[in-house]
Amino acid sequence: MDLRTESPYWLMKNGFLYSYPSLSQSLTIDVVIMGGGITGSLIAYHLAKAGIPAIVVDKRKIGMGSTCASTALLQYEIDTPLAELAEYVGVHNASRSYLLCLEAIGKIEKIALEIGSKAGFQRRQSFYYASKKKDVPLLEKEFKLRKALGIDLDFWPKEAIETHFPFSAPAALMSRESAQIDAYAFTHELLQTAQRMGTQVFDDTAITQLTHHSRGIKLVTEHGDVINAKKLIIASGYESQAYLSKKTVDFNSSFAVVSEPFSQVDIWYKNCLIWETARPYLYMRTTDDNRVLVGGKDEPFYSPNKRDALTKQKATQLAKAFLAHFPDLPFRVDFEWAGTFAETRDGLPYIGTNSERPHTFFAMGFGGNGIIFSLLAAEIIRDALAGKANKDAKIFGFER
Ligand SMILES: Cc1cc2nc3c(=O)[nH]c(=O)nc-3n(C[C@H](O)[C@H](O)[C@H](O)COP(=O)(O)OP(=O)(O)OC[C@H]3O[C@@H](n4cnc5c(N)ncnc54)[C@H](O)[C@@H]3O)c2cc1C
Repeated sequence: MDLRTESPYWLMKNGFLYSYPSLSQSLTIDVVIMGGGITGSLIAYHLAKAGIPAIVVDKRKIGMGSTCASTALLQYEIDTPLAELAEYVGVHNASRSYLLCLEAIGKIEKIALEIGSKAGFQRRQSFYYASKKKDVPLLEKEFKLRKALGIDLDFWPKEAIETHFPFSAPAALMSRESAQIDAYAFTHELLQTAQRMGTQVFDDTAITQLTHHSRGIKLVTEHGDVINAKKLIIASGYESQAYLSKKTVDFNSSFAVVSEPFSQVDIWYKNCLIWETARPYLYMRTTDDNRVLVGGKDEPFYSPNKRDALTKQKATQLAKAFLAHFPDLPFRVDFEWAGTFAETRDGLPYIGTNSERPHTFFAMGFGGNGIIFSLLAAEIIRDALAGKANKDAKIFGFER
């Protein structure tokens, strides 16, 4: 799949952070993680900490799938509002999903501290505004449901919004617990740490054949080497769908821009994450080098040519949308890019085993909370491999 345009901001900013060898011999290992993006790296880190022998194999350079294109807002708020999610999966599972995502932010922060990360993890508040007056009852309902779960947030009427921002909206939810990061740099940091704990990482090594047999998996690489493993983890991002016969996701195209750096550190109110109730939604964040990132304007298709051809036009639209909110800020686009984006019907990821492929786990963290879902996948799969019960695993399983 063609996952993105050539030059997402994080890739331009960081370049090749570390290089890894390609696999050049056959080997036998307990676990193969197929994919070295944010999902594969979080899994590798969790398995290394649990003492489970694993290797990571990626057909691209590390982090150069969707991960380097990610705008990396870390939110407990799933793209599907809590009230709507409850209609899909029931009140208990919807509530647990929100709470697990909330906890995941703290867990990512803890990992960032543990590994001495310099990937710009920053705690942020998240401002979710009603795009239209008709969305206010939805926010009121969300506010009550989330408060009842103990989530720390406030309901802002129009007047409060106008006091704190140069734009207006009919109402908003201000959640205190959110964050942001550079997912590409974080991926490398996680794999560097996992490597030091014994995990081998190989890039430029496509897995071209999978054979599931009674005791495990045989994988053949593009170079003809054979990996024999007890378990396979498919952490292959949006390309994971190719390993399933049943369609689990819809693909679309998303766009993002990053501005030139601003001179002031405080660009808007607490440099909070900003997004809205409209679908597709517009979103904004700042970066740790004082830039503004604006994303959205999604198109409901997977067509790399069409997507790439639209990137300039979408960049202009995103800059215009930003200036409609902050007319006094001197916003000038410095980087623009586009990426394929996948969503599931209910907004939850698919994590776990699937009867189609024995000895295999899927870690498909699709949706706007992809990175948070990757953390959940790492925990669920680590627990399964360690023989430890995880009472939340079923919420994200294929049987739901
Ligand atoms: C524009 C954009 C904005 C986003 N914004 C956010 C956001 O704000 N917050 C958020 O949480 N998420 C966001 N996401 C989603 C998030 O980026 C993704 O969920 C995440 O990057 C997926 O990571 P991954 O490791 O699963 O996939 P990838 O990064 O794509 O990694 C999978 C890897 O598997 C490898 N692979 C595939 N097939 C094979 C094979 N056969 N053999 C070997 N290797 C293979 C690929 O080369 C790839 O490197 C955004 C995504 C995009 C595109």
